[in-house]
Amino acid sequence: MTAAVEFQSVSRHFGPVKAVDSVDLTIAEGAFFAMLGPSGSGKTTCLRLISGFETPTGGAIRIFGEDVSATPPHLRNVNTVFQDYALFPHMNVRDNVAYGLMVKGMGRAARLARAEEMLALVKLDGYGDRKPAQLSGGQRQRVALARALVNEPRVLLLDEPLGALDLKLREAMQDELKALQHRLGITFIFVTHDQHEALSMADSLAVFNEGRIAQIGTPAEIYDRPATRFVADFVGSSNVLPPDLTRALGGPAQWASLRPENTRLAASGPVTGTVTALRYLGSGTRVVLDLGGTEVAALLPAGQPLPEPGAALSIAFDPAALHVMGDAA
Ligand code: ATP
Repeated sequence: MTAAVEFQSVSRHFGPVKAVDSVDLTIAEGAFFAMLGPSGSGKTTCLRLISGFETPTGGAIRIFGEDVSATPPHLRNVNTVFQDYALFPHMNVRDNVAYGLMVKGMGRAARLARAEEMLALVKLDGYGDRKPAQLSGGQRQRVALARALVNEPRVLLLDEPLGALDLKLREAMQDELKALQHRLGITFIFVTHDQHEALSMADSLAVFNEGRIAQIGTPAEIYDRPATRFVADFVGSSNVLPPDLTRALGGPAQWASLRPENTRLAASGPVTGTVTALRYLGSGTRVVLDLGGTEVAALLPAGQPLPEPGAALSIAFDPAALHVMGDAA
């Protein structure tokens, strides 16, 4: 099957800044693909390279097998939903959604009818006459989605589209976006710095660090078998154990990761440390120990007795839960 998007050694350097540096990437058609990484790691630049608003300084980009080096944005069959939605404030919602069809030269009656269909798709029937300012954040987000989808793109790019929403609305929109993608079968490429969002929504994801991809895989692969210390630390706040500590705890003398939810507190053990912090999380409590200079967190389910700060304790875990990473930073 032809990939929806393919990067071959793609770079985008701005003078000395390597925003994107020799990235190889294949995104399957129909995938819900997330680009995850800290601020400044190159996610948005990658998205702009796909949409054509940015030009690579090296490498090749193919969209459905076709080299798009010389293809301008409006001929790429790719649409973007921007973080700030970029709606036209003076136009009503229906005209905002119909805008792309007007640019393509579709007649007024046809494009307004199509805009209404799109508004129904994103559950905004009846809102066509309002101005963007008369909508809630979540509703504006859906207008932006409808405005991109009306062009029937084969690839939809979403740049932190839920960033402006409060937590509850964000979670509701995550479910809606996922359902919509499933129904439409369009390839969604989604940029976020929120690991929970990426893990819960994507079929597969790329974790970015300093312009490069640290790891590509399914959410389970990334979460359970992080390839590097950076990935282990960034995705799901795992414990990262240096070689000496891994060995002292019964593993090989290598860097390893251990999930807080797989870590238990023990009265005694090969390495004893001190409780430095307790953080109540609602569903449980995160207890942080200083084990010989390394911070290790254990997630205690609600209802378990909690240690006092300063208490001397060790940790225990199922050896299978220890993930050895090797040397990769
Ligand atoms: P965020 O999550 O904050 O949006 P990001 O991962 O999307 O971050 P990018 O916007 O892709 O990161 O930026 C990557 C790097 O490239 C940053 O260091 C940024 O400052 C730099 N950069 C991006 N655009 C330009 C530009 N036009 N000129 C110079 N540097 C740029």
